[in-house]
Amino acid sequence: MTESPYDFIAIGVGPCNLGLACLTAPLPGVRSLFLERKPAFSWHPGMLLDGTTLQNPFLADLVSMADPTSPFSYLNYCKQQGRLYTYYIRENWYLDRQEFDRYCRWAASRLDNLRCGHEVRAIHHDAQTGLYHVAGQTADGASFGYQARKLVIGIGGVPRFPDGCTVHDQAQLVHSSGYLAARARLQAGRSITVIGSGQSGAEVYHDLLQASERHGYTLNWVTRAPRFFQMEDAKLTLELITPEYGDYFYDLDSATKAEVLDDQRSIYNGINQSLIERLYALLDERRHRDAPPTHLLTCMALDGCRRAPDGRGWELDFHHTQLGRRYRHRVDAVVFATGYRYQVPAFVDGIRDRIRWNGAGQYVPSRRWAVDHLNQDIYVQNVGLQSHGLTNPDLGLACHRNSRLLAELTGHDHYPSEPRTAFQEFVPGEDSGFVALEREAVGS
Ligand SMILES: Cc1cc2nc3c(=O)[nH]c(=O)nc-3n(C[C@H](O)[C@H](O)[C@H](O)COP(=O)(O)OP(=O)(O)OC[C@H]3O[C@@H](n4cnc5c(N)ncnc54)[C@H](O)[C@@H]3O)c2cc1C
Repeated sequence: MTESPYDFIAIGVGPCNLGLACLTAPLPGVRSLFLERKPAFSWHPGMLLDGTTLQNPFLADLVSMADPTSPFSYLNYCKQQGRLYTYYIRENWYLDRQEFDRYCRWAASRLDNLRCGHEVRAIHHDAQTGLYHVAGQTADGASFGYQARKLVIGIGGVPRFPDGCTVHDQAQLVHSSGYLAARARLQAGRSITVIGSGQSGAEVYHDLLQASERHGYTLNWVTRAPRFFQMEDAKLTLELITPEYGDYFYDLDSATKAEVLDDQRSIYNGINQSLIERLYALLDERRHRDAPPTHLLTCMALDGCRRAPDGRGWELDFHHTQLGRRYRHRVDAVVFATGYRYQVPAFVDGIRDRIRWNGAGQYVPSRRWAVDHLNQDIYVQNVGLQSHGLTNPDLGLACHRNSRLLAELTGHDHYPSEPRTAFQEFVPGEDSGFVALEREAVGS
């Protein structure tokens, strides 16, 4: 152990913990350390495609929704870069994904409590001192060890593949998370199939479609969903991505939560309108040229995926969810845009007995994202889709979560939340004119 104990150590530095670091930086007397395994901050580098934007307005930066006066705001970044006027005239509300990455790197470079190239591998708890011992390895192979009173685990997800793909094949398959690095290899083949119709699937398909005439490959876009649906962004629907709705959702029972989440897929999992429009225009334009074929298929659920018998390309099995027919598909290259899943990291093995688990081996986070039995030591970022609902992964809500986390971690509410964040009442209020009846009285 090389230093005196920290108040808290945060593990993993994506936008969630980076925002926490920025909000912690100005607080006097709070000793914190942020450990990231990558050699430098980077945000989903495999999907930093030209022309792709955030789904949130620029106010969903690392700090503004908790503290609009913070020096880590996007507007201050523009000011420091001498670009505030050009940003203002451009009226670019939705930042390019590459720009968000640059902004995050700028913020990361201004923090002195962030250590990149530090992979956490083991954590233990010392019952005598009440301290957590966090150990791991640096990028150059050296060991490190630090102690802290509390932990914040924010390590993001790992690529998810459909059940039909064997683990053996997964190592050779391309997931959208590694798309840019694999793009040239994919484009060298005669045919490519993109699987998945979320925003990432649409972005990959659009990117490959733009280059299909230059390279001459056939391009397929296949989804299990019954349609290529658009991300909902009506104002009153967006009120579901507020702290107020998050609190309402947290109090629902598990079965209702699952039903509600299923119903809300098009809010957090669809394709944004402008991309659908650009895609449609491109499909229409290339019809007038001698463009290579492209096929868009819905209701196609993947059952199996294996190397083709000749060793070149892949053989995929599908069934059509409405026609009830089975299909085989031979293709040179496949891109799985099938999302991410949370994987409980091996480094929690040493503190497993301090954590609350459900029957499926997932954390059970408290309303304030604590997962230890006493709700006071171990916190998690962005793993609560089942408990906290669609507010969980959203960048627009990360500031709120970080402000609440900081209150838990420091015992002081440095960034108070606004009492009302939506016009809707998710539970009829006392002054609403709607009086809750005892359950027995319902129907009488
Ligand atoms: C392509 C893409 C675009 C998205 N766009 C949006 C958007 O526009 N709006 C929105 O609201 N949401 C968006 N999301 C969803 C979400 O905001 C992002 O996934 C976001 O990156 C989540 O941040 P995070 O900090 O939880 O995790 P991550 O960004 O995944 O960061 C986790 C970090 O933990 C590190 N780590 C893991 N294990 C260890 C370890 N053992 N030791 C040290 N470090 C470790 C990883 O290297 C990584 O840097 C997008 C997601 C993707 C994939």
